[in-house]
Amino acid sequence: MTSPASLLRSRGLSPKKHFGQNFLLDPNACRRIAEAATTPPGGTVLEIGPGLGALTAPLLERASRVVVIEKDTELVPLLEEALGDRGDALRVVTGDALQQDWWALLADGPAPRVVAGNLPYLVTGRLLEGAIAIAAQIDRAVFMVQAEVADRLLAAPGSKDYGALTVFTRAAFDVRRLLTLRGGAFFPAPEVSSSVVVLTPLRPAVAEETSAFREVVKAAFGARRKTLRNAWKGLFGWSVEELAAHAAEAGIELDARGETLGVEAFARLAARAPLPSSAAGP
Ligand code: SAM
Repeated sequence: MTSPASLLRSRGLSPKKHFGQNFLLDPNACRRIAEAATTPPGGTVLEIGPGLGALTAPLLERASRVVVIEKDTELVPLLEEALGDRGDALRVVTGDALQQDWWALLADGPAPRVVAGNLPYLVTGRLLEGAIAIAAQIDRAVFMVQAEVADRLLAAPGSKDYGALTVFTRAAFDVRRLLTLRGGAFFPAPEVSSSVVVLTPLRPAVAEETSAFREVVKAAFGARRKTLRNAWKGLFGWSVEELAAHAAEAGIELDARGETLGVEAFARLAARAPLPSSAAGP
């Protein structure tokens, strides 16, 4: 296989930092990620950021259909050349994954339906949000992220890495770390290590991604050093007494700080939010 460095050089290109381009060099890692995304074989995989196809090729060996979204228009011709004509098994979408309807791209193909990718690190958080938004429909997400992001996704309440990203992700998914790679496994080599995480949707989810849930979590972590009593002051228009009553019913100690609260506790409080006026009926 031609190395990404020489392939890019042969076209007068170089890796683009602003697109988070760190190309995977380790075929064994690519195979393992592809296997995690396509077990059992068959089904449809939506790959975010295929780059030069390091992951796409092993995905195509096992999936019935692979849809890729690549934002760098200069890479797309190289990718298509590298993969060759695959007929209906491959669809290449040139564009920004943040602007695409992922479920519409996946729904056409057979189940299981999986989102995968070695994610561009600058937009990892927003891409994770994209997966959370369709957690109820998909069967799995398999993502390469910076190791410290994986630490945050896996963090326990009370630890320094536990935060809003942890809660939003774990409300929707069980999270498992599949493998960790050092910078040298990529071209160019990033300074930090990366981990592959396997996200398996919880059925049912601990909490739906409602605006009430988002509000409860964001307020708790927006003011990390405050007690929940202060961080949630005015939440849902509740008085101090109403907040105290709802927290007690939800089994939450208001003198605690947000980072000590488990995902279920946030969900219990959000479930007590008043219905939005449009859903409240006449
Ligand atoms: N999958 C390839 C690999 O593992 O070698 C490339 C991974 S590289 C970390 C991230 C890829 O995402 C690059 O190809 C980059 O151009 C692409 N990318 C960056 N931002 C994107 C976006 N918003 N939508 C789609 N692709 C994007």
